[in-house]
Parts: sequence; structure tokens; C-alpha cells
Amino acid sequence: MPLYEYACPRCGAVVEICRKVADRHRATRHCGVKTKLVIVPPMIRSTFAPFRAVTGDRRVINNETERRKFMREFRLAEIGNDPSMAPPQESEKALESRRKRAFRDLQQLKDLPNFGGDE
Ligand SMILES: [Zn+2]
Repeated sequence: MPLYEYACPRCGAVVEICRKVADRHRATRHCGVKTKLVIVPPMIRSTFAPFRAVTGDRRVINNETERRKFMREFRLAEIGNDPSMAPPQESEKALESRRKRAFRDLQQLKDLPNFGGDE
């Protein structure tokens, strides 16, 4: 939860209160009067930790913006994360043709000597 500061208009005291964002404007009292919200601090720190990409140009990615840019640049998608980043869906026909090609390639490999040999 973020930390908010409330100032007393009568004595000037500043009180820090940790509360839910939705509750930030809920009145607090000091010296018998309502305090005023002083700061609406974005004290919610990012949990992003810099990392080196394991693909593409293997650059160091420092934040969410850089990560998104990198993903777009190398046409990458995170499974189960952001569907808008995913490459266009392959048509049934294209998928079937790719399956057949993969099957043919596999058959050719099996015809080679010493592939999955019994010895
Ligand atoms: Zn006061």
C-alpha cells in the first residue's frame, strides 16, 4: 500500500498514513479538524529487475518499456501474458502444410543410416 501524507491546517502537523489507493481521500482528523492530503506519491515501486535477453541481440533490458520494445522488435510473444504481442495466428491450411513438411522431414531422417538404430 502507498504511503500518504496528511497535513493539519490548524497546527501544520504532517501525518503519514499507509492506506489503500481507494481510501486516500478518506478524511483523517487532527486538532479536531479534517486534514488535507498533501502528496499523492507514486510510492508503489516497480518490481522490474533488469535482465539480459536470451534471444535477439541479447541486450540488457532495464524496464517494462524497453522490454515491450524488445519484444516488438524481435516479434516475440510471452505465452499467457499479452495476447496483443502474439504473432498473427497461423491458418489451418498453413499449419497442416507445416505438419506435413515436418512429417516428411522426419521420414527422410528415418531413412538415413544410424538414425534411431537398433544396434
Ligand atoms: Zn493539528
